[in-house]
Amino acid sequence: MVKWLALCGIAASLLLAGSGVCIRQLEDVPAYWLVVSSVAAFTWLFLLIRLRCFSQPHRLLVLVGTVVGFNLLAQSTGGEQSPLIFGLFLLMGIAAWEGEAKYGYLVALLFSGLEAFYLRKEDAPQGLALYLRWAAYLVSAAFLARVVKTRREKEQLNSRLESLKNDAVRLASEAEPSSFNVPKDKLLMEESRLSARVGTVMELEEALDRQLALFQKSIPLHTAVFFLLTTIGDKKVLRLRASSSFSQDIASDVTLLPGETLVGLSAREGRRILLNDIAPESARALPYYLKPHSIGSFLAQPIQLKPGHLDEEGGEEREWVGVLVVDHEKPGCFQERELALVERFSETLAETVQNSRILHFSRTKTRNLHALYEVSNSFSTLLDLDQVLKTALATAKDISPCDSAYVALTEGDTHQFSVRAWWGHAKAEKPPYLEEELAAWIWENKKPIRYTRGQREKNLAVFTKKESMLGSIQSFLMVPLLAGENILGVIRLNSQKPATYQAYDQDVLTTLANQTAMAVENALMVRQIHEMATRDGLTGVYNHRYFQEKLAEELAKAERYNKDLSLILLDVDHFKKFNDSYGHQEGDKVLKVVSEIIRGTVRAKIDTVARYGGEEFAVILPESDGNLGRELAERVRKNIEGYLFENNGKTLYRVTVSMGVASYPFDAREQKVLIQYADQALYEAKKAGRNRVKWFSASG
Ligand code: GH3
Ligand code: MG
Ligand code: MG
Repeated sequence: MVKWLALCGIAASLLLAGSGVCIRQLEDVPAYWLVVSSVAAFTWLFLLIRLRCFSQPHRLLVLVGTVVGFNLLAQSTGGEQSPLIFGLFLLMGIAAWEGEAKYGYLVALLFSGLEAFYLRKEDAPQGLALYLRWAAYLVSAAFLARVVKTRREKEQLNSRLESLKNDAVRLASEAEPSSFNVPKDKLLMEESRLSARVGTVMELEEALDRQLALFQKSIPLHTAVFFLLTTIGDKKVLRLRASSSFSQDIASDVTLLPGETLVGLSAREGRRILLNDIAPESARALPYYLKPHSIGSFLAQPIQLKPGHLDEEGGEEREWVGVLVVDHEKPGCFQERELALVERFSETLAETVQNSRILHFSRTKTRNLHALYEVSNSFSTLLDLDQVLKTALATAKDISPCDSAYVALTEGDTHQFSVRAWWGHAKAEKPPYLEEELAAWIWENKKPIRYTRGQREKNLAVFTKKESMLGSIQSFLMVPLLAGENILGVIRLNSQKPATYQAYDQDVLTTLANQTAMAVENALMVRQIHEMATRDGLTGVYNHRYFQEKLAEELAKAERYNKDLSLILLDVDHFKKFNDSYGHQEGDKVLKVVSEIIRGTVRAKIDTVARYGGEEFAVILPESDGNLGRELAERVRKNIEGYLFENNGKTLYRVTVSMGVASYPFDAREQKVLIQYADQALYEAKKAGRNRVKWFSASG
């Protein structure tokens, strides 16, 4: 709309001016033209003022258009004698008054330029004098406009202050209608109640905002803001977390370094900064205003926590939590009474921050207790070792912050750990040399290690020298899984931030480690019992019962996936005689060696070797047809035949075996029948002279 008006204005002015210039060339300015031009120009100006076009976004366009048009009109209606010349001064005044001063100067500049352009045509001495006169007019007009503007701003400020005061009085009387003199104390009490509640209902920011709003209106202040001292990366910064102001121009998020601006200075030096007559340039630099504000009184009050809270080392040192900043547009606002109120309010704010921390801490605690309870529940039913380790890892990273984590178990009888479950880059970020040293420390001390880079602790001195090996890890927590004096393994949490782990984290992780150790012990025992129940005591291969179960399972698989399966039955030849000649003990040794040779010949992790009974063994060969079965059996036979047994380091003898092979589904589909056919084939092998492989054939 304004843009269109501006364009119309420029077009109309140019049109009128153009025709005016034509007329002037005739050296005759008719009276009606003078009247029409004047009326048009002043109507246009009036319109611009009414529409407040000089403070609109397109004011530059409007101004330039109007000046050009006006000047052309003035030139065409008698030059310096034209009545429109006053309109030009008026225009300048308006520009400087309504808009910003720079627009006033711009008008003056444009006007001077146009004037110089016209004067070039006239004779020089007279033109120069005229130009100087114009210049004097211009300067005084700009000055006058400036004066008017300043006075108007002052009036505006006064009326705003008056309305603020009225608002504050109204608010105070609404808060406590019966006794107007005590609202501040009442309000402070209200704040305390509020702060007691924040711990349970409100989040910190919301609580701070409400408290600040109450406080700002009760004093009253122009603005009250709270900067919380917090850490970003490894830097301590002040961050604007709550504000309440009569101004609309309060920044929503400002971050300052301690020492920066008056606010940062107060935090860095830990002292109150009170300026009851703040210098305008300092006021302009206040970081919480989006635009420079005229502030008269300023107060920055650093806030401390009460000692003793949450201080795990039990230190008495008071902790800085932030800065409360209050200001007022009038100077001299913060006197004894206001300072006392600010002091008391600071304590309330400190309490709020503390409450929120306690709340956060207790929430974390509750969550962790819950997690530990859950994990102990699931451990009581978890019998599988891998599941136990996975659950322990998941819980560990749940209860303490970390960027990577692992659970490792002791490897056999060594003092080494092997990582069994991990998350993040825990496995990749494992410099073995360093880990060995850590493992050795844990084995020796049987205690957790809580480490942050640069930690200078006597008992970790050896390790401190190698901390550069930690890579991106800045701090870690390593807790042993202890079963009595026995170290079963470790749980380890790594963080890329320094000093992530506190005494509390160590306690929680130790509790988890104790539970995990118990669960690991159980799982290991279950594994052992399972081994005992499925293995043959003499040879270590699976026993008959397991063989039957496994064969049923493998046959079901073969059927489901349409695969072959072969079964070998093996019997040591003339074993009775062997026993008679060398004794039963020597016979047992032979059985052990035979079982080892079988195991070493067939496919590891695919085939199942079992002791079928006495000196008979069975081998299940999944995904193997009769040909492959016979081939493997033949290899076993040859290997046993080729083995030279020692007897008391002297006598050498050989042992041979006979084998029968039957296949699914070619020979039989049923388990019982398959075993029977393999046995039949074995019998054939014996009959045919022993030390050979026979496969089942229906013809016999
Ligand atoms: P063949 O199989 O070649 O027909 O003759 P064999 O002498 O092996 O015959 P048989 O299968 O009847 O004899 C099995 C013998 O194996 C009987 C027993 O003395 C011996 N035996 C069985 N179990 C064990 C064992 O655990 N240890 C020892 N040392 N001998 C065993
Ligand atoms: Mg036998
Ligand atoms: Mg035999």
